[in-house]
Amino acid sequence: MRYAVLGTGAVGRTLAERLLSLGHDVVLGTRDPAATLARTGPAGSGAQVEPYAAWQAGHPRAGLAAFAEAARSGEVLVNATGGRVSIEVLTAAGAGHLDGKVLIDLANPLDFSGGWPPVLDPANSDSLGELIQRTFPGARVVKTLNTMNCAVMVDPARVPGDHHVFLSGDDEDAKSSVRELLQSFGWPPDCILDLGGIQTARGVEMLLPVWLTLMGRLGHADFNFHIQGARPRA
Ligand code: NAP
Repeated sequence: MRYAVLGTGAVGRTLAERLLSLGHDVVLGTRDPAATLARTGPAGSGAQVEPYAAWQAGHPRAGLAAFAEAARSGEVLVNATGGRVSIEVLTAAGAGHLDGKVLIDLANPLDFSGGWPPVLDPANSDSLGELIQRTFPGARVVKTLNTMNCAVMVDPARVPGDHHVFLSGDDEDAKSSVRELLQSFGWPPDCILDLGGIQTARGVEMLLPVWLTLMGRLGHADFNFHIQGARPRA
């Protein structure tokens, strides 16, 4: 499968590396490939993220292209951009390049402009997942993986025991294909919980304040939500 991972930060790279290890073709999307490759300082929102060119050198099979070219080439798209710029990025990617494709949205609409802790915008009566689906009605948006650290997304065994990942989306076939992808990452079928339509993205995005508080208290990110009683009743 050909994946376009929109976003060159820690999350985009982690997803890309895992997809490549599974034999998929991956192009990462960025604003300006030459500028991204020329950067020498830490990249993205994480001060610990190495310059893109150094990462690229270790991942020679990963392609890099402007958002529109990456989206054009991808059969499946991943939104791994900051939630506050996701609509801008997807607009640059081009609505025509999203039409009919599964768009995995793992972004969180965190607004850090007022300092720490960030606030969610949108929230309560809307969500980023819904906003993306409304803005790009031809895309088959599946919200998932946004409720855990990116290392856990692609390697759930980092967290001991059973723990859960959520799916939200209006397109059942799209959710089925994302479920298969999650299983290829190592998620047991019973640990993938389909919450329903894209409106349920509200709830999973609003878990972020809890997740961020837990990370602060625990001092690490290798944890996840476990939903006791999630197995269907006999
Ligand atoms: P990030 O470093 O904040 O952003 C990466 C991408 O955003 C880059 O490709 C960058 O483009 C693009 N970008 C930044 N500002 C832009 C602007 N003004 N206009 C257009 N594009 C812009 O991302 P991240 O830390 O990897 O996180 C990605 C998403 O995953 C976020 O929504 C985050 O909330 C979510 N998430 C993160 C984790 C985690 O473990 N960190 C876990 C769950 C969910 P360039 O390539 O051109 O620089």
